[in-house]
Amino acid sequence: MSLALFLDFDGTLVEIAPRPDAVQVDPDLVPILERLRERLGGALAIVTGRPVGVIDDFLKPARFDVAGLHGVERRTAGALTGGRAEDHPALRAEVQRLQARVADLDSVLIEDKGASVAVHWRLAAPEDAARAEAVVKAAAAALGAEYRLQLGKAVGEIVPASATKGHAIRAFMEATPYAGRRAVFLGDDRTDEIAFASVNEDGGVSVRVGESDTIATRRLADPEAVRALLRAWADGAPLDPDALPPA
Ligand SMILES: [Mg+2]
Repeated sequence: MSLALFLDFDGTLVEIAPRPDAVQVDPDLVPILERLRERLGGALAIVTGRPVGVIDDFLKPARFDVAGLHGVERRTAGALTGGRAEDHPALRAEVQRLQARVADLDSVLIEDKGASVAVHWRLAAPEDAARAEAVVKAAAAALGAEYRLQLGKAVGEIVPASATKGHAIRAFMEATPYAGRRAVFLGDDRTDEIAFASVNEDGGVSVRVGESDTIATRRLADPEAVRALLRAWADGAPLDPDALPPA
């Protein structure tokens, strides 16, 4: 069966940087993705917590199908749906309170994505990191059941409860050119585990990047190994994800 390839961005296609705006995109990455997309008949998408526009910026001038903000927004065949900040008034108010609560912590970054918000403490000392985590947890609790908290690597993110990367992948799989293919998803973070579960359930292949415990069935060591695999696939190597090392 032909494959549909879904790729997380940070920590999967690019190495994680101290600040989210500081990631370096390997100059070969875009041409590799473009060739691979062609080989897959267009069935290649980025599935990320970042906004679609930020991914476009990193990968310009190419435009890929993208599920952004963990699936809150999705662009396929050039059409963007979801992700409007004005649809989230309660979240907007909570973002303002969050900003006030950590205003004295220079090492804590608030990444306001409109329909979601991420609090980053990668650069913070342990006590400041603990405070940032407590603040984002309190904000998520105040918002109630319409939103949920996702904890990742030195980041806590509040997203609409209905949005997950698993839902985003299933939404892509309902339409051309993805429908009828076998989903393969590569991700590096605990927030990707929810998508590994649905991909496994649907008979696809899940690939965890890095060393942590996972329910993924396959594993790659790091973004460099991911790029080497994608390059080989783009160059015509057999598209056989079952041959990847077991997790
Ligand atoms: Mg990631």
